[in-house]
Amino acid sequence: MDMFRWGGGGLGSWLTVGVGAGVALTALISNPRGEGAPSHGIPYALQGPEASWAPASDATATLPVDPRVEELVEEVSAERLEYLVDRLASFETRHTLSSVDDPDRGIGAAREWMMEELRGYSPRLEVELDCYRVPAQGRITREAEICNVKAVLPGRSDRRVYVSGHYDTVAGVEEGMEDEWPQYDNPAPGANDDGSGTALAMELARVLSQSGLEFDATLVFIGFAGEEQGLFGARLHAQRADEEGIRIDAIFNNDIVGNTTGGNGLEDGASIRVFAPGPEDSPARQLARYIRRHGGVYMPSHQVRLIAREDRFGRGGDHTPFTWYDYAAVRFTESKENYARQHTVADTPDGVDPEYLARNAQVNIAGVASVALAPSAPDIHSAQGNPRLDRGETGYDARLRWERSPGAVGYRIFIRTAWTRDWEDIVEVGDLEEWVFPDLSIDDYTFGVAAVGPDGLESLVSPYVRPPRTPSPVEVLP
Ligand SMILES: [Zn+2]
Repeated sequence: MDMFRWGGGGLGSWLTVGVGAGVALTALISNPRGEGAPSHGIPYALQGPEASWAPASDATATLPVDPRVEELVEEVSAERLEYLVDRLASFETRHTLSSVDDPDRGIGAAREWMMEELRGYSPRLEVELDCYRVPAQGRITREAEICNVKAVLPGRSDRRVYVSGHYDTVAGVEEGMEDEWPQYDNPAPGANDDGSGTALAMELARVLSQSGLEFDATLVFIGFAGEEQGLFGARLHAQRADEEGIRIDAIFNNDIVGNTTGGNGLEDGASIRVFAPGPEDSPARQLARYIRRHGGVYMPSHQVRLIAREDRFGRGGDHTPFTWYDYAAVRFTESKENYARQHTVADTPDGVDPEYLARNAQVNIAGVASVALAPSAPDIHSAQGNPRLDRGETGYDARLRWERSPGAVGYRIFIRTAWTRDWEDIVEVGDLEEWVFPDLSIDDYTFGVAAVGPDGLESLVSPYVRPPRTPSPVEVLP
């Protein structure tokens, strides 16, 4: 792994930036207009008819390995995860409408145990219930209190990064009940759906809170309730966060992340899917790209399979309500599902592979820690809310402008042709707030910019895209 470091060159020097597939591009740091940029510089390489670079979908070459993140990845424990999944399944059911008073069985006992467990990890974790009283509606068949379990690890700033799963469960009891939504007191162990995601969030709470590291972002570990009735806990939480103007930079939602053998017998313990709804440059897609880029550095043997979709066919998850409010939220789900176990009494811990679950937790922690330690993504918007991308003084250049992020020492510009899903090239620029690519068409390429901290850690990418136009009907005379 090539280690890239800031500081050697400074203004006026040239940096050679390796971008996957052995492609090396050279970028001029000093002059935003790019005066004197050589013909082999990036604008020409991208534009000319001789342009023959191989698109590099995993542009990891410029990412340094951060020893702190590496250590966090190593700290994730399969034994701990196995213990947590077993314990979650031991409450027999965690159905949202199950008992809240029984000390051993039901959602009340489960959340009491989760809070006690989380409180034991570190005095730095602020553990509490996040409750909402709701009337009967939809699959919530009576008035109820929906309580998410939340643990907060305060950072230097208010911007938040979430790791989530849903701790509620559901199950049918017998054949023939498929059309009827299952009763609240059926045995519903939910070891994989979603004991696995809940355990993952709890294990990350342990590792990150015990690390002794101070994060720039505030970390929130959350177990949602009411997911199985229609994403209630997540909808309520996202709705309130939006109302209160809370800044959430990323939501890593994990739901069904522990099984390696599909119901058809096919096995895959070496990859994880990340579902990210569009459009192409939505906040979710930026987060998904970031997760794969960082997963590739810290967990190269575990493939992150990005899926450019909201979710699996006909299914839903707690990341979706956050995307409604333009938060960056994705869903992690195992590659091979066993539908015969989901939402049944057979969703027991023997269907969860702790080693696989641990690898998925490691991919999560690499992304979570990187976002949280790095500076915040640069603000690229004008006061009117438009991305500050234009054709520059010549009318034919690509000029990108941004607001400096606190703590950043440099910026990375990401580029791809406008009919491509992944960033194809990266240009390192110094501590600037403007960059010009001479004669590069802003119509033909998509651009983004990320902030880089003193240790080389990279923020999420801010993409220069405009929101889709809304229809405006034309008046017609009768
Ligand atoms: Zn689920």
